[in-house]
Parts: sequence; C-alpha cells; structure tokens
Amino acid sequence: MNQPLSTNNNAHYVVFDHMLEGVQVVDFEYRYLYLNKVVVEQAKSSLEELLHQKMTEKFPGIDQSPMFSLLKQCMEERSPQTLLNEFDHLDGSKGYFELRMQPVPEGVLILSIDETQRITALKLMEESNIRYRCVADASFDAIWDWDLIKDTATFGDSFRSIFGYNDEKIVNFSSKWLDMVHPDDQAEIAYKIQCVTLASEKKWLLEYRFKKANGDYAYIVDRGTALKDEYGKTIRIIGAKQDITEQKRSEQQKAVLAAISPIFSQHAQLKSALNAVLGKLIIYFDDFQLAEIWLCDNQAKSIKLISKDSHFPNSEEFYEKTRLQTSFQLGEGLPGEVWRTKETIVWQNVETHDAFLRKEFASIIGLKSVMGLPLIFQDTVIGVLVLGTSKQVTYQDSYSSFYKGLAELLGSEIQRKQIEQELAEIFNAAPDIICLAGFDGYFKKINPKMCELLGYTEEELLSHPSSYFTHPDDLKVTTRETVDFSNTTSSQNFENRYYTKDGRIIWLSWAIKLDLDSGLIYCVAKDITEKKDLEDLLKVANQLAQNGGWEINVLDNNKVYYSKTTRDILEMDDDVVPTLEMGMSFYPDEENRSRVEKVVQKAIEDGTPWDEELQIVTAKGNHKWVRGIGRAEFRNGTCARLLGSFQDITVRKNTELELKKLNETLEERALKLQQSNEELEQFAYVASHDLQEPLRMVTSFLSLLERKYESQLDEKAKQYIHFAVDGAKRMRQIILDLLEFSRVGRIREELDHVNINTLVETIVSLYREKIEDLNASIVFENLPTIESYETPVYQLLQNLISNSLKYHSVNEPPRVDISVVEQETDWLFNVKDNGIGIDPNYHAKIFQLFQRLHTKDEYTGSGIGLSLCKKIIDDLKGKIWVESEEGKGCTFYFTLPKQ
Ligand code: ADP
Repeated sequence: MNQPLSTNNNAHYVVFDHMLEGVQVVDFEYRYLYLNKVVVEQAKSSLEELLHQKMTEKFPGIDQSPMFSLLKQCMEERSPQTLLNEFDHLDGSKGYFELRMQPVPEGVLILSIDETQRITALKLMEESNIRYRCVADASFDAIWDWDLIKDTATFGDSFRSIFGYNDEKIVNFSSKWLDMVHPDDQAEIAYKIQCVTLASEKKWLLEYRFKKANGDYAYIVDRGTALKDEYGKTIRIIGAKQDITEQKRSEQQKAVLAAISPIFSQHAQLKSALNAVLGKLIIYFDDFQLAEIWLCDNQAKSIKLISKDSHFPNSEEFYEKTRLQTSFQLGEGLPGEVWRTKETIVWQNVETHDAFLRKEFASIIGLKSVMGLPLIFQDTVIGVLVLGTSKQVTYQDSYSSFYKGLAELLGSEIQRKQIEQELAEIFNAAPDIICLAGFDGYFKKINPKMCELLGYTEEELLSHPSSYFTHPDDLKVTTRETVDFSNTTSSQNFENRYYTKDGRIIWLSWAIKLDLDSGLIYCVAKDITEKKDLEDLLKVANQLAQNGGWEINVLDNNKVYYSKTTRDILEMDDDVVPTLEMGMSFYPDEENRSRVEKVVQKAIEDGTPWDEELQIVTAKGNHKWVRGIGRAEFRNGTCARLLGSFQDITVRKNTELELKKLNETLEERALKLQQSNEELEQFAYVASHDLQEPLRMVTSFLSLLERKYESQLDEKAKQYIHFAVDGAKRMRQIILDLLEFSRVGRIREELDHVNINTLVETIVSLYREKIEDLNASIVFENLPTIESYETPVYQLLQNLISNSLKYHSVNEPPRVDISVVEQETDWLFNVKDNGIGIDPNYHAKIFQLFQRLHTKDEYTGSGIGLSLCKKIIDDLKGKIWVESEEGKGCTFYFTLPKQ
C-alpha cells in the first residue's frame, strides 16, 4: 500500500504519507491534489481513481452536503473548519469522520480521523438502550440492569410490580444485592457473580430464592448477560428474573403428594405411617410449626388425636398439659368443628379464641393460628389435619387445590390403611384357616391359625405342596376341586383330612375360589374334626337307639332313601330299592295306614311336622311298634322333600301297654277299697249310734235293779251290778269315741281363720279342775292364727293335751309346752310334756285304733285318741309323729299345710 509519494506531484506532502490520520489536499477547483493512503482507505477507493479528480464529479451530490458547504467556506474565507461528517461510501456503507479543514496555499488541507467504529458503537448502544427499555417495560420478566462502573442498578416496571420494590434505581448495588438472596442460596449466587464479573464468563442461568420487598422469598430463574469492555472487564450486567414460585410450589406439592402414598405402604402400622407423613408435611409447610392428625372413631362418636409433630419449642409441655383434650365430640374444638362443617377452617389468635379448647396452653408454644382441613373419603369426614403456626395464617388460593388434594389423598390412604389393618387383623386373628395357594399346589400365604391347627411353622407349610399334608384318600377330591378351572365365578366347597405335624388327623371344610388372572386360589377352611366325631358318634348312637333316617325326594320322582338302621328296623334286604308304595305296605292295618297318609298329606300342604307311634309289619312279617317323626322341606312354596327318623319302640311300647294294664287293675282295686272303707265307716257309725240305745237300757235297768232290790242284794251282788254298770259306761265311752272317729272327714266345714291361742285357752279352761288338782302348768305364747278347719284342729290339740295330763310322771308336777313354728309350706305344731314317755318300739303302734300301752286299771282310755289324731291329720294332708323315750316325756309333732 506504500504508494510512491511522487504520484502526488508535490514533494513536501511526503510528510503526510505516514500519518495515522487521513490527509487530503484539494485545490480551489475541489480537485484532489494529494491523498495519503489512510484517507484513500477511509474512502474505500484507490489513489488512481481519485487523484486529480474533481471531488464534485467523483462524488456527485457532495456539493449539497454540509461538509462541502464548510469546505467551501474554508476555501473561500480561508478559515479553518471542523466537522463530524457522515459519509456515504460508493459501496453504500456509511463512514463517520471527524474532518478538520485548514486553508493551505494550494487550496484546503483536510485532516480526517475515522470515527466510524466509535460512532457505530455509540449508535448501537443507543439503539440497544432503546430496545432494552422497550423490553424491560413490556416484559413480564423483571429486567434489571447493573452498571458496574457507576455501581447503580436500574429496574424495569415489571421488576417493581413483581417483587414490590419502589425504587427505580439502587446505588451502591454491589454492597446490597446479596441481601436480596435467600441466606441458603447466597453462597452459590455470590460465587456465580464473581465468575461473571471477574472471569471470562458472560452468561448465567440460575435458580434461587429472591427476597421480595415484603420479606417473602420468591423462587426465581435469573438469566443474565455481562457486557465486557475491551480488556474483558465486566462493566454492565443485564438480567431478567422470572418468578417461578407458582410453578415451583406446584412441583413441590406434586412431590409431596407423590411421597405420601409410599409412606403408607412402607409402614405396617397406621400410626407410624401418619407420624412419617406429618414429618414430611411439616418440612414442606415451613410456615407451620405444628401438625396433627385426628381420626374419627369407628362409631363416628368422637374424634381422637392419633399423630402429631411439632417444631415449636416446649411442645412436650404443651402436649402434657393438653393430654385430656385429645378426644372431641362432633362440633367440639377445631377438629370437631371441621368434622361437623366438612370445611377447611382457620382460627386466628387462638389464645383468645373460645372455641379453641386448648387456648389457655397456646402460649406455651407461642401458637397463634390454626388451620383444620377435613380428610374426606367418599364424602365422609374420616379425620382432620390440623396445622398450627406462630404467625397469622393466610389461606392462599394458590394452596387451596393442594390442600384439597392433600386432604383427599390422606383420606383415602388412611381409609385404605385402616381396611388393610383390619384385614390383617382378621387374617391374623381369624379362628379359621385363611390362605392363598397357587395353581402349582403350593401355599403362598397362610395365617397363624393354619400353623396353630396343623402344628407346622409357616416355612414348613410354604415349602411343601399341599398334597404333602393331605390324607391320601382325600387327594382325589382335593385335586378335583382345586383345579376345576371351569368354575371361577362361585366358590367351591369340599371336605378333606389333613395330617398335623404330630400325626393326628383333622377334618377341614374348605371354601375356595379360583382367580385365573392372579393365578391364585383364595381359601378358607374350618376345623370340623369335632363335628365329624360327633357325626360318627351320632351314627353309632342312632344304631344303638335303633334310630334310622329316611327321605322322600318329592322333586325327584318321589325317590325314597332309607338309612341302614331304617332298613334293619323294616327287616329289608340291602339290595332292595325302596319305593313309596313299598313304604306304605309296612302299614297293612287300615287305621295306621290312614293316619300315615293324613299326616303326610298335611305336611305337604302346610308344612305341619308329625310325630306318630305306629304299628308296622316288617318285610319278614314281624309286628313292631315304631316312632315316625317327619317334616316337609319347601322350595319356592312347594314341598321338595320329606325327611325324618324312624325308631323301633317295640320294647318300650310293649312295656307301656303292660304297665297300663297293671294300672288299670290297681285303679280297680283302689276303687273297691274305697268302697269297702266307706261301708266300714257307715257300719261303725250305724253300729255305734244304734248300740247306744240298748246300752242305755242295760245301764238304766241295772240301776233300777240296784235301787229296787237294794235290801235283798248282798254286797257281792251289788259289786257285780257296779261292774256291769261300769262296763256299760266304758262301752258307751268307746262307742262315743268310735262315733267321733267315724265322723272325721265326713262333715266338711268351711275353711276358717283359726286362732290357736284362743283354741288352747278353751282347752285349758276345759281341764281347769284337773290342772289345779295336778298342779300342772300349760305353757304357750303367741300362737298364730292359721287358715284351717276349727273342729279337727281343736280335737287334735285337746287329745294331745289331755294325754299329756293323763300320762304324767309321779315325780314332778306336769308341764305341757305348746308351740308352733312357721315353715315354708306348713305350720309345725309341737306339744311337749314331762310325763312317763313312750318306748321308741311303740312309737308307730300308738297311732293305731284301740292300741294302748296300758291296762284300764293303770290309765283309763279306749285307745282311740291318737288314731283319731292320725285320721284328722291324714284328712288335712299333714303329718304326725312322736319323739320320746321312756321316763323322759314325749313331744308330739304335727304339721298342717298353710294352704
Ligand atoms: P288312750 O289314751 O285312750 O289309751 P290313745 O290312743 O290316746 O289311747 O293313746 C294310746 C297310747 O299311747 C296310750 O295308751 C298311752 O300308752 C300312750 N300315750 C299316749 N299319750 C301319751 C303321753 N303323753 N305320754 C305317755 N304315753 C302316752
């Protein structure tokens, strides 16, 4: 490019050739006289093209430009001029040049400094600033611009509206910006800023928590670009912050919800699952320091605190103090109220909130506000999630769908867990076998009852095929039922025998269901060993009792079935097939047959069961008695089956008949006896009554004889007459006594209130003289009034008292004690004396008629008194007996029924 200066025709211009600025000299006709290489380059042309050419010709229209008018001014007025010239190159591009024009003798020397780069940059910057401002104002992102030279940050409108800051500008930004970052994120961000400001990095993309003007933190994505100067130093950082709090929260919420379900699967117990869930929730809800789960009980009567977690200080003290407030009724406290309303409820300032039943303890942990969320399953509140905080709870709409989702999820998971736990309890505590088996014949899951019943451990039962435990004789039925793939809709039932580990055999009754999809057989089995044993026992007992069974299947053509015992009773051969006609042929007797037909007909008509004793003639022609019991079974209103039992009662029946005959004979005899007794009584009455008259005659004639012939009768004769009179008198007494005796029971008087006290008093007054003579005492006190017949009771007591006075001891004055004891159904009378007593050998004899233990010379009497007592007592349905020893007095007892 080093053009020889000679081409410029002027030797002193050589000095300009090496200048860094462009130099050109134009003559008065605006012809290029000189151009150094810089100006040629600036003009994007060549020396040959321009030298000696007229400027106005080379660049047509230039004479209209401001530059040319200045040049003209300089040319003509010979005054220097300066100008920043915008120059249109021939190729259409633009150049910016600072032109300094100096008059020289040849014309004008123009010094041109190329400012194209600087001006273009400036223009670009200006444009970008305009663009930035438009973007900043129009964008939803918060645009910020940090001029590191001035250390000033400017913020766009969006920035201020999103984050709530008022200032458009913040000076000394380098010392302030870090405070706007969440403490946990500061380190990372500070490092990144350093990388961008000090090192070569130009761009960043960061996610962190940014502090808003109100102190809350927003999750943001921050994109930034650093502008560097020519030395690579960052002079400006422009960035855009995007608020992603919503998106972040919804991601976190999704993550929280997603983390909850597995917790329920990981924990076997509901309570520990809930503890873990609360642990997770309280971390997520960092605004809340307390979380509780309350669950409604099964009867939906109360709601109870089941699980809690708290990050409050003094939580232990709080829960200790509120330990009695862990169960509420519907509508009681926050959980009860949420349960009642089915709504989310927020209570502020709980320490003064009357409905918050734990209010007086809220200050222990600094609890200010609580929120209760209903946990819902199928439209029913099953529990309540309570969240507590030391601040005001603001129930943000952005959370409401999350709360709803959380409540629904917890509701269904808790419900599922409860059912799972209940099922597990049933499985573990079931009194019967519950198990799962595979089509490969192995058990897959068994409950503890199965181990207990069979005596094997779980491993042992799972490691052998089921056939290993099955009785060989039952393998066939077992296999047939368990591989019946044709039936997968209903359950199948069968019985088989299993061996226990200690070699016993137990009977199991199975109900199984095949599930082709899962390849599993669901099984339930009951131990029916005892029932089977009882069945066997019944079979034996039936055989022993000659009790057979029978059945007529009405729906199946009246098919008849007889059990073995029935066949034995009917003396049928085993190979004979019974029919209805054959059954009736066992009743050849017309009466029996029509009875059978009648009861069967009635049973078929209205289900009346029957129980009949019938005479049959067996297949071998033997006569037997049977007891036939039967009933009808109905299906859809019609008789489907008749069934019953058949018992051989021949022996019993024959005995019964014999007994009946015997009874009849006895009854006949008793009747005869009664008749003869009555006749005897009649005779005694007639005899004693009729005998009195001749006896009176004997006595009176004897007295007449004595009076009339007194002077003619010697002493002997008189003595004889006296004996005769005396005999007649005694005979009269005997006849009177007998008369009385025969009267007992014949004249029935009215039942009356009999005052025993009055009765005894009357007897005492009757015997007053005798009592005084003997110096006797009759002792009685508070004797009752009883329901009875006065005359016979009077006769009883009179006889006993008079005997006690008569048979008194010679050693001491007689004493008679009379007392009555009330018993449950009777009155027990007790007449006790201190007389001569009776030898126990004669205790029975004295109650018989005319039986005496003494002669008439020792004691007078007829031997009728006590038999009269006995007869009265028998008549009144009581009892009489004596307790005594000779010389020790007697005690006569008798009872009278109260009713
Ligand atoms: P009786 O007194 O007329 O002989 P009872 O039938 O009253 O006839 O008595 C039968 C006998 O029982 C009496 O003969 C007497 O031997 C004896 N006996 C009855 N009562 C007493 C008594 N209280 N103490 C001793 N013996 C008695």
